[in-house]
Amino acid sequence: MAPETQQRVAVIGAGIVGVCSALELQKRGYRVTLVEARDPAAGASAGNCGLMAVGAVVPFAKPGTFKKVPGWLLDAKGPLSIRPSYLPTLLPWMTRFLMAARPSRVRASSLGLAALTERALGAYEPWLEAAGIRDILKPRETLVVYETAAEFHRDRADLEMRRERGFGHDFVPHDELRALEPDLADDFACAVRLKGWVYFADPARLVRSLHGLFLEQGGRFVAGRVTGIDHDNGVATSLRVEGQEDMAADHVVIAAGAWSRTLAAGLGDAVPLEALAGYSTTVGDAGVRLRHPITYSAGGFVVTPMEGGLRIGGTIEMGGLDHAPDFRRARTIAQQARRLFPGIASVEGKEWMGYRPFMPDTLPVIDRASRCRNVVYAFGHGQVGITTGAITGQLVAQLVAGEPTSIDLQPYSAQRFA
Ligand SMILES: Cc1cc2nc3c(=O)[nH]c(=O)nc-3n(C[C@H](O)[C@H](O)[C@H](O)COP(=O)(O)OP(=O)(O)OC[C@H]3O[C@@H](n4cnc5c(N)ncnc54)[C@H](O)[C@@H]3O)c2cc1C
Repeated sequence: MAPETQQRVAVIGAGIVGVCSALELQKRGYRVTLVEARDPAAGASAGNCGLMAVGAVVPFAKPGTFKKVPGWLLDAKGPLSIRPSYLPTLLPWMTRFLMAARPSRVRASSLGLAALTERALGAYEPWLEAAGIRDILKPRETLVVYETAAEFHRDRADLEMRRERGFGHDFVPHDELRALEPDLADDFACAVRLKGWVYFADPARLVRSLHGLFLEQGGRFVAGRVTGIDHDNGVATSLRVEGQEDMAADHVVIAAGAWSRTLAAGLGDAVPLEALAGYSTTVGDAGVRLRHPITYSAGGFVVTPMEGGLRIGGTIEMGGLDHAPDFRRARTIAQQARRLFPGIASVEGKEWMGYRPFMPDTLPVIDRASRCRNVVYAFGHGQVGITTGAITGQLVAQLVAGEPTSIDLQPYSAQRFA
């Protein structure tokens, strides 16, 4: 093999995870090529809510979720929908999701999430500095607003789980909330301020700027869709790229977000990764002054004061990767933003859909392929990929370089559902 500095790494996918992995590999002297089917930030990493959700350590699968699901499905404005034709395909994932809701698994997932999120901000800082984009990270912390005191009390188990993992909150009574956010409807009972949950004011600019830094430092970008990975005797040798010559590589990183399942399956790893679509509308002329990102607990969506306007994002749609976006879901949550801001001038704007790459236990996969030890998986970051992109990049580079990893990667094993 070539000496380390001459080794070639192909990273598939230029979302936040791929770009951060590419930078970390470049730092270690690898010759890195990013291969992207569309453009940098073409997937989930663009129109999302941008939160550095450092305390997002409560997995999606937990006992309480199941009680809520039937009500959500029956409510056309609810935060979850499942395309009926997709239900048979979804069932195996749903079964695993159910199993992941057992208390012991919930605790393990929560610990696994915390190990990543507590290192998340520190991992970004050098890259924000190097790319000259420190301004993109806004120090304002997220507020969760509650309609009633009872609703706040129902959220206490989640708040407690976060506190146990080291992520606290401040209680914000009604009057203080009014003072913090004067344009918010005045009948919210209370809120909590989630400590450390700052935000990126434009996640697409974040990814594109980091990608720009990668190119400046000599990285190579190839536009093309990877259709498979050739291997020989347990070693990946090259990528098949649609309409192009095969691309030889000494190491491969699969960071193709929700599309990673097919690539892993081609290497013999059946990973239960689902695409959970989410939507957002960015309203350029909302006429509302918002200082903090707001999570509207009852509506299941987030409003973030982005550079491009007020972004209203959230909702979960399960229907696989092959359907056309149903932007009525974006409009439904945008309309509900009127409940938060009675004076909002408009809820129309730029609509977007992205696929959260989701594992049944909410933990990502950060691991080597079982049959090709020179292939590293980095996908499945669910609702916290923006938060954990940079720390994942560090771990990926450690795996590729054969260094000891800074945290135990066992919780993120690709084989945990095998
Ligand atoms: C509505 C919504 C709100 C969210 N809010 C937040 C938030 O506030 N905070 C947070 O931390 N996270 C949030 N998320 C989650 C976050 O957006 C994702 O976890 C993250 O963007 C995933 O990044 P990724 O790099 O893994 O995937 P992606 O960004 O999807 O990137 C994958 C890339 O791989 C490319 N690709 C796919 N297949 C191939 C192939 N075969 N060959 C070449 N290229 C390929 C795609 O084109 C794509 O560009 C949100 C998500 C949604 C949908």
